[in-house]
Amino acid sequence: VHWDKEGGWRDAAVTPYGPIALDPAAAVLHYGQEIFEGIKAYRHADGSVWTFRPQANAERLQRSARRLALPELPVDVFVESLKQIIAVDKDWVPSGEEASLYLRPFMIGDEVFLGVRSAHKATYYVIACPAGPYFAKGVAPVAIWLSTDFARAAKGGTGAAKCGGNYAASLLPQQQAQDNGCSQVLFLDPAEGKYLEELGGMNVFLVYGKQNKLVTPELSGSILEGITRDSVLQLARDRGMVVEERKIAVDEWKQGVASGDITEVFACGTAAVITPIGQLKGEGFSVGDLSAPAGDVTMGLRKELTDIQYGRAPDRHGWLVRLDA
Ligand code: PMP
Repeated sequence: VHWDKEGGWRDAAVTPYGPIALDPAAAVLHYGQEIFEGIKAYRHADGSVWTFRPQANAERLQRSARRLALPELPVDVFVESLKQIIAVDKDWVPSGEEASLYLRPFMIGDEVFLGVRSAHKATYYVIACPAGPYFAKGVAPVAIWLSTDFARAAKGGTGAAKCGGNYAASLLPQQQAQDNGCSQVLFLDPAEGKYLEELGGMNVFLVYGKQNKLVTPELSGSILEGITRDSVLQLARDRGMVVEERKIAVDEWKQGVASGDITEVFACGTAAVITPIGQLKGEGFSVGDLSAPAGDVTMGLRKELTDIQYGRAPDRHGWLVRLDA
């Protein structure tokens, strides 16, 4: 769907997948005016195709657009764009345990000019790709690397937006995490370098088992407002857990694991749903035991969420939207 300053949104079209032509002076190539979303389509046992909380993704894309000085795509156009993709070929959505069609909506500023101002032209796209289960060999705890060299976001910056530039900044620390045998990087707050923010592509949670309590970093203005995060908080409240969104010093994690107060740690996001975290490593330290099995709260919440997404449990919060009808 194209947008320009005079005419607004128009010319929606579904076209065969292939390269897109961009003028070398297109705004996105110089000033990084790009935002995106990640969302999945799930096939239910009766063959129908559903997605999870697309309005929340649409609204987040609008917030990202405002921050990146891009035009806001109407929520109904966003949801319709997902339906149009499914309408091309419903068989595209794989069936099977934790298989899905991964959908990647994104928007670029593509006005042709070389000047530092917001583009007066933009295009919104959706591409899609069938995906198998994130954990091919079953869900297993992962190790996380604490980055103290780099922050993902700055005060007043774009941390709360889902824009490509945030990920550009996180690729080097993510590489360092991998070089240290970890699957993802953990970022601390940009101001003091003391409080947990999020992982490279997931939000993080601590479980205080004896207190039946779930704690996650508050929305600081520099972390992404994860839709899985919000859903997990709701499911935890539903099961009577005490839920806290607040500042969490990284020392609280280290000491809580050492004392046994923190019984489980996990991360969540659309791609992996919920991933148990077995170990936190950083320059000169390591806490946790990677060989310990994933905890009951982590796996229980994971099952509840995937059961709703795949239509195996009642959708009691009205989170699902049908895409093929
Ligand atoms: N934080 C970051 C930096 C992410 O890239 C993602 C993935 N979109 C998340 C958190 C989790 O968000 P969601 O649950 O909406 O996928």
